Amino acid sequence: MEKKVVVMGARGSVPVSGKQYEKYGCATTSVLVRLCGQVIIIDAGSGILSLPGLMRGGEKKAALLLSHPHADHLIGLGMCPKLMEADFRLDIYGAQRSGRSVRRQVAALLSPPLWPVGTDALPADVRYHTLKERLCLGAVTVESTEGVHSGGVSVFRISGEGVSVVYAGDTNLTEEQYARLADFAAGCDLMLCDGQYTDEEWKKRSTFGHSGYLAAARLGRDAGAKRVRIVHHDPFRTDAELDAAAEEVKRIYSRADMAREGEEILL
Ligand SMILES: [Zn+2]
Ligand SMILES: [Zn+2]
Repeated sequence: MEKKVVVMGARGSVPVSGKQYEKYGCATTSVLVRLCGQVIIIDAGSGILSLPGLMRGGEKKAALLLSHPHADHLIGLGMCPKLMEADFRLDIYGAQRSGRSVRRQVAALLSPPLWPVGTDALPADVRYHTLKERLCLGAVTVESTEGVHSGGVSVFRISGEGVSVVYAGDTNLTEEQYARLADFAAGCDLMLCDGQYTDEEWKKRSTFGHSGYLAAARLGRDAGAKRVRIVHHDPFRTDAELDAAAEEVKRIYSRADMAREGEEILL
């Protein structure tokens, strides 16, 4: 069966636009994982608008793992065309955050006055589930652990058919977190890791809940990840700067690179 990851959006914080972003993309975080016949989406940033073009006729069901409800990870959901289809089912999994269920977190953005259509008015069959530490989606196992981010964040390890993908989307790689995630991601086939900052920016923004891209590459190397893609690019980071960052990252770990929107990775 097909084992594939598609980066639908690699940008962090806010969608951008402009010629300086053509290579690495403008859309915020959303990743498609195909494993064991399951369609699994991680986060619903504006990248999720690419989903219809990546789904096949007859596929009427997907799961969405929500790492956390910050707007850059949810902003695409209200305009996702699949949710306008009455015969499409989306199961959304997310941890309780700030005392709110995942349903209430989504509704905080997708309801008037912030959005014209409330979650209850979507034509699709959308179901909400509290994320557990271990979840089974058909033959796929999803393990989750907590990252270091304002308001909390879930880090996922998705496994099936003998391969595994780790997604550490928004997390600050503090010393303690680094050791824990190296363990959590050990031997994975692909690690997607937050690397929003240069080391200098990271020092200045050490409480912002994001990581430096060099640390992300080191983590992937130390975890023995077969491939690493660094995600959540800073909205001001241009293609030229990301190309330069990719060179630095590869010097640390030749199997690491900066993620590009539209990139398909076969597992
Ligand atoms: Zn984010
Ligand atoms: Zn966030």
